[in-house]
Amino acid sequence: MLRHPDGSSFRFDPGALCLELLPTGGPGPLAYLEALYEPADLVRWAEESRLPDGLGPGGGPGSGPGSALVVSAGEVADARVLRDALWRLVEGRAEGAPPGPDDLVTLNDAAAHPPLVARLTAGGDREWAPGGTGAGLLSTVARDAVELFTGAFAHRIRACGADGCRLLFVDTSRPGRRRWCSMERCGNRHKVRAHRARLTAADE
Ligand SMILES: [Zn+2]
Repeated sequence: MLRHPDGSSFRFDPGALCLELLPTGGPGPLAYLEALYEPADLVRWAEESRLPDGLGPGGGPGSGPGSALVVSAGEVADARVLRDALWRLVEGRAEGAPPGPDDLVTLNDAAAHPPLVARLTAGGDREWAPGGTGAGLLSTVARDAVELFTGAFAHRIRACGADGCRLLFVDTSRPGRRRWCSMERCGNRHKVRAHRARLTAADE
């Protein structure tokens, strides 16, 4: 679920972990969307992300207290820097523009840290290894971006087709014809508008 500052909320699946970080804010005019102020904000983002459960304080189902994610204020600042670089990199990719050198350095520096580590418990469950940090989380996100940009769906990274909507997604559907951030929001608005246009045309 994406909560917009205007009070609306709608389901938005951008198709990749790294793209889930983008709606938490962004560079320039997107700053009004900022949602990452303190460590708890980044932990909450991780918990609500497509990462498997069990990263938050106290852990999720089947995970012990040792699985808590420890995030510092500095790592929250790093998350905002990585997110803003990802905005430019992903928008550039969607428009066919080459990546900016500074943004590449930001991405690759984040990816160079050790990522979060999953492990198997004696009971056969999956859990996060203790000692997960904000840097580990950001490394996992940055590595996901490297995979996205070089993977099978790299040519399917797109911006929503609606005027004024900047949401970015990767289309992983089989037909590959996804146009909207969300059918609930921009897809529906488009349908309503197209319907109205057809009615008007019929009147003339
Ligand atoms: Zn949209």
